[in-house]
Amino acid sequence: MENFKEKIFPELFKFFLNVLSGILLLYAGLVLKKSFEKNDSSLFSLNLSPALSVLLYAVYLSLLLYFSWKIIKGIKSIIFSYVDHLQEEYSAPVMDLDQFETESYIPYKYFDNREYDSFVFRVNCARISEYVWEPDVLLGISEPKCVDKKCVTDLVVKRSYFGFYRYTCPACKKKYSSKYNASTLKSNFKKVIYAEHERKSDELPF
Ligand SMILES: [Zn+2]
Repeated sequence: MENFKEKIFPELFKFFLNVLSGILLLYAGLVLKKSFEKNDSSLFSLNLSPALSVLLYAVYLSLLLYFSWKIIKGIKSIIFSYVDHLQEEYSAPVMDLDQFETESYIPYKYFDNREYDSFVFRVNCARISEYVWEPDVLLGISEPKCVDKKCVTDLVVKRSYFGFYRYTCPACKKKYSSKYNASTLKSNFKKVIYAEHERKSDELPF
């Protein structure tokens, strides 16, 4: 969060300076336009040739375009920093299945395709007990996949101009958009699965 603030305040400051410059420029443009309207080819008390007026107008237009571009870039930087600060690193769960092995039971791994946040993830879990009420343990979560049940292909991810994550399915060409990268999606989904396991273990009859 500290890092985000350190990054966002200079960006905001630059952005407001550019907006202010843009507004001043627009105001200057309006004053110029009014003085042109009042007296066809004179600017304030100066008499300008038509060629000079055109040149002045071109300079004004270039400056306006420059500040508009700077303002769009400023908005882009602010949104980029905001999206960046939402991201989290995913760490795979560390689980030693041997500890659950008994004389009568050997834990086994299985995969399950689960939907979360408009994506599908292949979740790797393990049954650690012969008792059905005992919650499973999480071993890993795959990269986000296409939500189409017949497709379930790993998605290709790219960042948009404003920093959002655009996911495309290389098989069926479906597109998804998210403010989270794959690592954050997995990290958030891990929390959801842990909560499910915790709730189940709270309901244990012993
Ligand atoms: Zn697909």
